[in-house]
Amino acid sequence: MKYVKCGAEVFEFKLKPLSKKCSYCEERAILRPEGSSLYLCKDCFLKFCERRVKENIAKHRMFSDGDRVGVFLSGGKDSATLLAILKKLFPSIDIVGIFLNLGIGYYSNYAQSAVEDLCKKLEVPLHIIDLVEREGIRIDDFVFTSFKNKICSVCGVIKRYYFTKAAKELNLDVIATGHHLDDTLSTMLSLFFNGDFISLSRLRPVLPPLHVGQAKKVKPLFSLPEIDIFHYAVLSELPVEGCSCPHGELTPTKRWKSWLNEMLKEDKTFKFRLLSIFMKKLLPLLPKEEMERKDEFVPCQVCGEFTPSKSHVCVKCRRVSLLQRIEDKRLERTAEEFLKFYSQNHDKIVVFDVREKEDYEMGTFPSAIWIEPNLISAEDKDFLKPFKNYREKELHFFCYSGRLSYLFVLRLRKLGFRAYNIKNPEKLLKKID
Ligand code: SF4
Ligand code: ZN
Repeated sequence: MKYVKCGAEVFEFKLKPLSKKCSYCEERAILRPEGSSLYLCKDCFLKFCERRVKENIAKHRMFSDGDRVGVFLSGGKDSATLLAILKKLFPSIDIVGIFLNLGIGYYSNYAQSAVEDLCKKLEVPLHIIDLVEREGIRIDDFVFTSFKNKICSVCGVIKRYYFTKAAKELNLDVIATGHHLDDTLSTMLSLFFNGDFISLSRLRPVLPPLHVGQAKKVKPLFSLPEIDIFHYAVLSELPVEGCSCPHGELTPTKRWKSWLNEMLKEDKTFKFRLLSIFMKKLLPLLPKEEMERKDEFVPCQVCGEFTPSKSHVCVKCRRVSLLQRIEDKRLERTAEEFLKFYSQNHDKIVVFDVREKEDYEMGTFPSAIWIEPNLISAEDKDFLKPFKNYREKELHFFCYSGRLSYLFVLRLRKLGFRAYNIKNPEKLLKKID
């Protein structure tokens, strides 16, 4: 049994032969693709997914002969599957993997090593863009700004900026991303109910360049259900990171995805029907952006990239400039720094141990308060209870891996507390022994 944690969801896959034969061959079936009546063996399932991607690429004319294609890799199952399928379908394609290290706590480095393993396995060249090197910032720094509750939106701005930048630097004709059916539909529903028809129009599987020098953006997996992609990644043994972005875990955006999966219980073709209505009926009514806005682009006064901004400073540079005014952007202290700080300021510090209760009872930092690890998923009202008397203090958290404690820190920062993660807690725990 293998599992991959994705966003706030956990997918589990038990490889267990079904009682039926494969619908296409003599092998025993092991799974059924979502929304279909087929029973498939491993090989036929992989081919089934690849066929769907091939049809999407052909129908929407995503690539032309000789195109240089960049695939944005996140370290997760979706972009890994996309790269694997593209490489399999078009072995001689001029393709490059691109990874944007966003400087997100423990997550970005895990993701980067998964992407490195993936590109090695698939023999695809990899181009890494490091946000700290390029801009001197991390996505996590935005918890110190008014965007603290909209980190994903800032992250989206920065990712889109580097999509364009990478396309230029690498001379790409096409940029491919791993957005799948569940992404398309959940975003569609959310935008529809917000009345954001401009953004809805951008959900097309192919977005032509908005100005000269920009690459075409394509989503070859847009009609594949997320669960099928997960199964593809597991069955193909693709290296994917096993943890998820802390900001994704703290953002309750999964509402529409759960609703779609609820609807699937009543009608197994529901997602495909919704996609078909969106593509055939709604999209043709929405204005296409590129023709109207072509002439409105000017070079950004800060970075030189084209922008439609009236202020002549692109939205990425405006967001990044918010961080220049913040001097102390520390969210973590090493065990050594913490101990030094604690020895001089122990009356200002409260320490929280977010490991399992048994671990805490076996030995913890003197004066550390135990916090139930599951508290991280509680509603704000309950979440705040153990901390509300410590608004004036510096709150320090630790756990074994530094992952859960970092989540506590981010959430409390967003709620206005001065919280820090203890970065290499094993050293602190050694002192406890
Ligand atoms: Fe960026 Fe949000 Fe995705 Fe994290 S979950 S990588 S912050 S968009
Ligand atoms: Zn700019």
